[in-house]
Amino acid sequence: MIIIMDPQATEAEIDAVTEEIARIGFRPFTNPGVERKVIAVLGELDVRKADLVEHFQAMAGVARVDLISDLWKLASRQYHPEGSVIRVGDVAIGGREVVVAAGPCSVENEAQTIEIAHRVKAAGARLLRGGAFKPRTSPYSFQGLGEKGLRILAKAREETGLPVVTEVMDTHEVDLVRKYADVLQIGTRNMQNYPLLKKVGSTSHPVLLKRGLGSKIKDLLMSAEYVISEGNHRVILCERGITTFEDSTRHTTDINAIPVLKHWTHLPVMLDPSHATGNWQYVGAVSKAAVAAGADGLLIEVHNDPQHALSDGPQSLRPDKFAVLMSELARIAEAVDRRL
Ligand code: PEP
Ligand code: MN
Repeated sequence: MIIIMDPQATEAEIDAVTEEIARIGFRPFTNPGVERKVIAVLGELDVRKADLVEHFQAMAGVARVDLISDLWKLASRQYHPEGSVIRVGDVAIGGREVVVAAGPCSVENEAQTIEIAHRVKAAGARLLRGGAFKPRTSPYSFQGLGEKGLRILAKAREETGLPVVTEVMDTHEVDLVRKYADVLQIGTRNMQNYPLLKKVGSTSHPVLLKRGLGSKIKDLLMSAEYVISEGNHRVILCERGITTFEDSTRHTTDINAIPVLKHWTHLPVMLDPSHATGNWQYVGAVSKAAVAAGADGLLIEVHNDPQHALSDGPQSLRPDKFAVLMSELARIAEAVDRRL
């Protein structure tokens, strides 16, 4: 349920409504600094719904009380009809610009990361991606450089000005990762790691939440709800391919997820064509499809020497190919009234 206060409502009236929500056993929620005049009532409303609507409708300063039928409340477009724009430095995700985050799968060493950062920036990427903590299927595979990798990412940001997106895998590492990163990535395998979602929800860092390999769109939104309900509304969703019976590609891009998510939520939606396809040859086509379908951004793996990459070489674009793709994407963006 949401309570929309009258534009002229006083602070005292807003406080009275907030206190009343808590008094009857629910959790009042306002987006700090953004919309004190829209108060969400969180908790299981069950059978008391109709009574509660009447109860709050009668309070001073209340303009309207609406029930949100979606299971996700704070992530719902019913709660927030306008699309959310999430700012990372001077980059706005969810606005007219289609934002591309690019970089290596893993941070391997300083020279590699800095070279790639310069190349993707020159091609028009607005964020640098790169993993320091890597969730690998095999425990014998390269696990990432950890804090050393984070320091390299910070150096690459210093040199290029590109904000950094990097994964955090464990609740105990959130404080460390956020010292270096601009956006905290939650990987596909952790989409339903609720303690981790709550922990990043308690920070003010933007969160890039990747869809689980075997998760429904609805589950992705419920995971976003975990982050937002802790007080962090800066969530960016990312479709990254799901597991299906098809094995010609690493995963199957659920392109439908883009219009469905844009319909159901106000949160920005990105797509990762690299993990979705697992093959650099298909990354361009799927990127273009995503922009045409309304994605707010892309997360693309780029490597200067894919053959020797420590992870995900086969799906990484070389910088020159990435630059060509960026110019093609600019034309697609323009055709759908966006820009790159
Ligand atoms: C990544 O983007 O580095 C990554 C590991 O992706 P995913 O969690 O989608 O597999
Ligand atoms: Mn990867």
